[in-house]
Amino acid sequence: MQYIFINPVVDKMYNKEELNDVLQKNGYERVDVTVDWHGIVKEKYKSALDEATLPLLDRRCPLAIEEAKKQIKDKTAEVPAIEPILIHCAMELATRETLKGKKKIITTPCESLASHGNQLQLQDTVFVSWKEFLKTLDANLVVKENALEESPIPLGYFDSLEAKTASLSGKETIEEYFSNERYKDKDLVEMLYCNGGCNNGDGVLIDET
Ligand code: SF4
Repeated sequence: MQYIFINPVVDKMYNKEELNDVLQKNGYERVDVTVDWHGIVKEKYKSALDEATLPLLDRRCPLAIEEAKKQIKDKTAEVPAIEPILIHCAMELATRETLKGKKKIITTPCESLASHGNQLQLQDTVFVSWKEFLKTLDANLVVKENALEESPIPLGYFDSLEAKTASLSGKETIEEYFSNERYKDKDLVEMLYCNGGCNNGDGVLIDET
């Protein structure tokens, strides 16, 4: 038996009982986190804002950070040392005593988060996009998915913080925003590379046509 963490996007795409049943028949037991990482990560940004002397960039999305960095000249923005929420979840599971020595699969909504996670080399933990994971399941046991119109973590994550924020999604929007240096009068820039958020990640759906 291997253990699997289902990310929030995938979780919303399926009937929970049906998905759990298929996973079990394929030899996987689902595990979840016990800590509110969504809230804790936001608190970490709040603390980082208190210390920051330059505009802070949202580091939850690896591709968005890459895109923003291409456009930023000199040291005019800061990338905080705060891992994405999914990575915090994986770290909790990697260090859980009852799962010690047992393989953990962390599903991601995109290849970039899977790659970033695997670079961290967490104990007995492998990150894989949902799309790639599905290819490893018994073809007769696949459950019907429903594409999501909205992300479970939409833009607006930082709205409750007292800060001058901007919220961007989509490669072109991020490119335009940073190349025109519009971040310079902001405290914090929220960024998601996929249009609308992680429900449109490249690791979510098998059929993207
Ligand atoms: S799915 Fe898209 S928006 Fe979400 S972290 Fe991955 S690249 Fe960023």
